[in-house]
Amino acid sequence: MKAIALTAALLLASGAYAQTAAPAVDRYIHAGKLLDRPGQKPRGASTIAIRAGRVVGVYDGHVTPLGDAPVIDLRDRTVLPGLIDSHVHLSSDRAGQEGLLAELTESDQLGAYETLWNARKTLLAGFTTVRNLGDEGATLALREAIARGWADGPRIVDAGRSISTTSGHMDARLGLDDHLHSTVGTENLCDGPEECRKAVRRQIGRGADVIKIATTGGVNSRIGAGLGKQMFDDEAKAIVETAHLYGKKVAVHAHGVDGIAVALRAGADSIEHGTLLDAESLALFKKTGAYYVPTLSTVNGYLERIAKDPNAYLPEVRAKIDWRISITGKALEKAVPAGVKIAFGTDAGVSKHGRNADEFELMVKHGMTPMQAIAAATVNAADLLGLAKEVGSIEPGKSADIIAVSGDPLADVRMLKSVGFVMRAGVVHKGP
Ligand SMILES: [Zn+2]
Repeated sequence: MKAIALTAALLLASGAYAQTAAPAVDRYIHAGKLLDRPGQKPRGASTIAIRAGRVVGVYDGHVTPLGDAPVIDLRDRTVLPGLIDSHVHLSSDRAGQEGLLAELTESDQLGAYETLWNARKTLLAGFTTVRNLGDEGATLALREAIARGWADGPRIVDAGRSISTTSGHMDARLGLDDHLHSTVGTENLCDGPEECRKAVRRQIGRGADVIKIATTGGVNSRIGAGLGKQMFDDEAKAIVETAHLYGKKVAVHAHGVDGIAVALRAGADSIEHGTLLDAESLALFKKTGAYYVPTLSTVNGYLERIAKDPNAYLPEVRAKIDWRISITGKALEKAVPAGVKIAFGTDAGVSKHGRNADEFELMVKHGMTPMQAIAAATVNAADLLGLAKEVGSIEPGKSADIIAVSGDPLADVRMLKSVGFVMRAGVVHKGP
């Protein structure tokens, strides 16, 4: 182990720090191996200096601290930035008929605790930031509570309620008897450009950070209307233009190739699922710079639930699930060699919260290197979420969102399923 005097290390560090007095550090991390900027060459033994929840320095070797700031000893671990899941639904992971029953029989207050429970599981799995793409529940409030330090969980970028056309994927009335329809809110549904502009403004007014829409049918919606296009060009354009007017990005749920094209032509910022993407889609991705978020983990959720209960889903939903399972990863296998930008996203809620890292194994199985998959869950996802200055790498100025695993995740990406150390904004939530 190489010990360097801190003052010397600070002089070697960035000019800003070298020219001023050494910043008061309140905590150090000694890392065995450091993947500070995924996508770039990893570093060996390193020291991270942290002050007031932010990284203030990254140095080669195990620096001897000045003063009495504590050192977190991770010399036998690989240290990397906190992971980012670009597609979760924190309010529940009880899908299918079980999820429907819970919605109809459990209180909103209990739902808020379930949301918190799922958020904590996600954080402890090493995911320090999530993008929550559409919830009827308490996630907007939880985002605020976590930011204020009232609750433990990941940083949340939230979409409010997801927007679709009437009887589209986000119509919560699907599968309910007519007499229950009046109990379900419909302000997230829009038909025609005028209504679609209003639906976006409504979610922005509620505090949404990002807008989530569906241009095609969905696997889980309780309707046998297929997975093709369900939104017209003028509607998708009205949504994207309105969201961008307010500086909000648009994430688009799309399976069928016609719905993917509608979204990308309208200027969508990301395509979620993208199951049937083709050569035209790939060309549009490249032209617009949109991200692809594969959400392969959904298949794990379906398989586990069906194994437990063959009748977990209505027959018309089950037919769509069987198709989705049969085609898992095919889109990613086309997108990777085409050079499409990829951000990590699980659709947790369909799969189990806290098992987000299972996605890494599937991404590598379907064409990515471990380094590409880790970059998708850090630097790329940070860029997609508009948080590139805040998270996604371990660099001076960024939030101290730091995790550690035993072994080398670049050799075996499954190591990320057992994260032993989690720090978010300088606060240790797990380990070492
Ligand atoms: Zn989703």
